[in-house]
Amino acid sequence: MSQYWSEAVQRLVPYVPGEQPKISNLTKLNTNENPFGPSPKALEAMQKKINDDLRLYPDPNADALKQTIANYYGVQKNQVFVGNGSDEVLAHAFAAFFQGKQRVLFPDVTYSFYPVYCQLYGVAHQTVPLDEYFCIRPSDYTQPNDGIIFPNPNAPTGCLLGLAQIEQIVQANPHSVVLVDEAYIDFGGDSAVNLIQTYPNLLVTQTLSKSRSLAGMRVGLALGQADLIEGLERVKNSFNSYPLDRVAQAGAAAAFEDEDYFRCTCQQVMANRATLTQALQALGFEVLPSFANFVFARHPQRDAAAISTGLRQQGVIVRHFSQSRINQFLRISIGTETQQSRLISVLTSLLA
Ligand SMILES: *Cc1c(COP(=O)(O)O)cnc(C)c1O
Repeated sequence: MSQYWSEAVQRLVPYVPGEQPKISNLTKLNTNENPFGPSPKALEAMQKKINDDLRLYPDPNADALKQTIANYYGVQKNQVFVGNGSDEVLAHAFAAFFQGKQRVLFPDVTYSFYPVYCQLYGVAHQTVPLDEYFCIRPSDYTQPNDGIIFPNPNAPTGCLLGLAQIEQIVQANPHSVVLVDEAYIDFGGDSAVNLIQTYPNLLVTQTLSKSRSLAGMRVGLALGQADLIEGLERVKNSFNSYPLDRVAQAGAAAAFEDEDYFRCTCQQVMANRATLTQALQALGFEVLPSFANFVFARHPQRDAAAISTGLRQQGVIVRHFSQSRINQFLRISIGTETQQSRLISVLTSLLA
């Protein structure tokens, strides 16, 4: 606390990201990074951009990247917004569509950045409890509201809604923006992108941090009808004209162009997810069905915080949340086979 902080800053309770340890040799399964590394073509495209042109500002509109993404999804370029990670895209969406609103809805168990943005932008929100299987129940989102946001699949539960359920929520709320945060959609779900032409109130966000393994480059995007995108551009151009640097714009476009690598690594993550789920179940864990690059699991006899601490002491990091409804769960990112074997062997000895 400082006398120099504004009142607004004194009241903030910032988001706490998962640990990025400074020591190597850890089995890092705590922040849902992709274990397989970026596309070699993306790396090459980025390396080519390390040259004297870096003295020049990048394209403020990232037109080439937007066109690549528009082609990829079969939408128009003015239906694409890009930003410095989807966290920034989400922040701009809160400012553009939810700021000053009274009843923005999101699940009680969800991405913990949403309440932080509510506070930053003066949004009053209401949480909607997940059902007993830790899934979103679409009929709960017919109550009066001024906006809706949720991840699909949800985080940190991994539970997926089908497109018909997404459509049900979007259709029931023609006067609200419904923001579907698809950070994990490429690990087995169907994107709602195809619904944006039908529904002017639907905004879909995605990130290159998870399925395209570029968390370190910070690239996220939003897809929606042109006037929603223009709302985001207005906020962005009142904040930072150049959120994506030259290297990031080139790498992100190349990542979208390398479909083979993308498909192959997503398939491998899904295969490893099945292996990890089985191994955890064999150790007595209950594992929620996951459509993401993590699993959410609890052990009926062992305290989750204690397991997490025990793993940490052996160099394995997973994510534990102290929020009451989920404080007996661990969120474990999908890793390589080697990382997962290490986790399972440490867990086996901890539980023995
Ligand atoms: C990881 C994640 C994001 C943010 O991704 P970045 O693009 O790296 O900022 C957004 N939403 C959810 C639900 C996430 O898990």
